[in-house]
Amino acid sequence: MKNISQILLVDDDVALLQALPKALFLRIVEVQIDTCDSALDALEQIQEHDYDAIVSDIKMPGMDGLALLEKIQELRPETPTLLITGHGDHELAIQALRGGAYDFIQKPIDRDYVVAALHRAIQTHQLRRQVREHQRALELHAHSLERVVQNRTQELVQANAAKDTFLSMVSHELRTPLTSLKARTQHLRRHRERTGPDDVVSLGLEDMERSISRLEVLINDLLDASLIETNMFVLHRKRCDLVELCRHLIEEYTAGKGPALRFEAPGEPIEAEVDPDRISQVMLNLLTNAHKHSPQGYPITVTLHQAGFEASISVRDVGVGIPAEVLPHIFEPYYRVPGVEVQTGAQTGLGLGLYIAWKLVERHAGHIDVQSVPGEGSVFSMVLPLFIDPTTENVDAAKLAPHTQAVWTIAP
Ligand code: ADP
Repeated sequence: MKNISQILLVDDDVALLQALPKALFLRIVEVQIDTCDSALDALEQIQEHDYDAIVSDIKMPGMDGLALLEKIQELRPETPTLLITGHGDHELAIQALRGGAYDFIQKPIDRDYVVAALHRAIQTHQLRRQVREHQRALELHAHSLERVVQNRTQELVQANAAKDTFLSMVSHELRTPLTSLKARTQHLRRHRERTGPDDVVSLGLEDMERSISRLEVLINDLLDASLIETNMFVLHRKRCDLVELCRHLIEEYTAGKGPALRFEAPGEPIEAEVDPDRISQVMLNLLTNAHKHSPQGYPITVTLHQAGFEASISVRDVGVGIPAEVLPHIFEPYYRVPGVEVQTGAQTGLGLGLYIAWKLVERHAGHIDVQSVPGEGSVFSMVLPLFIDPTTENVDAAKLAPHTQAVWTIAP
């Protein structure tokens, strides 16, 4: 920023043009004063220099001070202009202020007043200039930020697309050898059954089968996640009785592990329009998680409850509960959660299970609630909208009252 203040003095009175600068030099430090005896000359000067303040007489032959002020407003709107008026010429002073003058100075000129007014004008101009420079810097910064955001967004979109393609490629690639491995194992098992038991081979086969089913879950999760993220996921919805769906799934889940304790209230079916395979997939995920995170032998309870036009299927365990740092991100895949360590090992996964479950239920216009107390267990409740028959005029109020339709207790 310049240190010398530049002032332009315009007056047709040559004596004043000589006397006033002398008085100002004595009272203002670091000041340069240019003078003009006509408004036209002044305009040329103003075009060339960015003055800190302009002082002009109002009454001048040819273009007068008010006309000059108007031109200054167009050329240099940020330069304060002070107009000199005759003594008691209030009308002109008001006109000057209305025309945008910074101040007016009455004749005979009080030098102290001029100096004080000029000090203020110079300061105002410098502040305006600073504001303008900051504004320009901010605009430049905003533009460069905009460009950065655009570039990064493009990079992100590309990276995301590449990730989805990769995810789907990996899942398909993994599936082929896995299918052949699975067929081979089954073949070996059948062969073993024909030729008699052999503990080492049978144990090996069991191990292989466990690894295979774990791989299968991972691959299916990866495929589902890639379908969800690319919006290619298709639901096959149909009208289903949720009691029937739960009963069937729990029977399959407990097959070979002993029957589940069961309570079912008599009553009408609880119907929803869902993709039964996908809702079963969600339940299976909740059941496996409940098992995975409970000590062996601890019971798991599945409750089917209806309230109004919603049904909720809750899976409750009395296991370890969800760690406090995991709870806020429970429905996000691990790769999306900064700071959450991805563990490896038999008991851990990619954090995709609940993410997929959430997305599946969301696609059914439902949601999943979770409650958990570390050390005491967790409850995951899948809430789904009920099927409303459009041909039924009145829905039975008793049917809508909150009630528990069924409870299954699985004690593995
Ligand atoms: P993954 O597919 O890797 O098993 P999930 O999305 O199913 O992951 O679960 C994410 C995390 O949520 C688990 O690693 C675990 O920390 C926690 N979690 C899920 N269900 C339970 C539960 N019933 N009890 C305690 N923690 C749970």
